[in-house]
Amino acid sequence: MWRCVNYNLLDQWTSALALKRLAMAQPLIPGRQAPVNLADFDPRYVAGSWNKLTAQERIAENTAISGELAYRLYAENRRSVLLVLQGMDTSGKDGTIRAATTGINPLDFSIAAFKQPSVEELDHDFLWRIHKATPSRGRIGIFNRSHYEDVLVVRVHKLVPRSVWRARYEAINGFERHLTANGTTVLKCFLHISKDEQRQRLEARLADPTKRWKFSKADVEERKLWDDYQQAYEDALTRCNTEYAPWHVVPADRKWYRNLVVSNLLRETLEKMDPKFPPEEEGLDKIVVA
Ligand code: AMP
Ligand code: MG
Repeated sequence: MWRCVNYNLLDQWTSALALKRLAMAQPLIPGRQAPVNLADFDPRYVAGSWNKLTAQERIAENTAISGELAYRLYAENRRSVLLVLQGMDTSGKDGTIRAATTGINPLDFSIAAFKQPSVEELDHDFLWRIHKATPSRGRIGIFNRSHYEDVLVVRVHKLVPRSVWRARYEAINGFERHLTANGTTVLKCFLHISKDEQRQRLEARLADPTKRWKFSKADVEERKLWDDYQQAYEDALTRCNTEYAPWHVVPADRKWYRNLVVSNLLRETLEKMDPKFPPEEEGLDKIVVA
């Protein structure tokens, strides 16, 4: 099972301060963590002496290595990785995908973005569209939003009764266990931004004609529900932080740090999986290509 490098150390250090000092991505501790309180996690946190310049160098190194390992994963054709990205509006899900996949051959990964479900999707259980979009063997799949929307936006907007969304945490855990048992390493990142940073990013979108297309009047309405969303996130992070599919709280007020953390997690995950080229056919040495 995959674990973050600092995981064992973290196990011994339970104070919030130790968490901040040791872990770049602030992974939660399955089974040991009290209910998650997002106020304990600093969106502007930076581990050690990282700065924008050193981060950019490391990100380039990470993506080059991830690209090589993704090639092997594809050749091996047995296992897959699912990277789930969740976060409030403007938290940078698109930007993270761009940064983390640069250098990986597009053949080796797939991306799915989940919007409001279609009529057909709503006619099925909430995991139907999700399961169809999971990566095939040999691939890295990236989710821009995910099944977690069904306990986030759906809960906040009361799109289904409480009893329905309440039962979904367990369904999600069962689903992720099933994926894991079938060779998928599930990597979940919550891109944690502050409310103030969101205001600045929304203002920046309004001010830039090339970014206005991203702006929706609904974003302003959603922002009013900030506290409800944070509460819903805290519950999802608490209830679905399992040994087999742990959550990572990624400090995301600084874009470069967010990209560093996620590209690092992806690289570490692939290194841990250590994909191997499949055995070659026998007798290849005697082959002469006429
Ligand atoms: P964006 O990611 O900005 O393109 O927006 C996609 C929108 O679809 C967001 O407002 C999501 O909250 C919404 N969305 C995604 N999944 C669901 C879902 N299962 N039910 C309702 N709304 C959803
Ligand atoms: Mg949007």
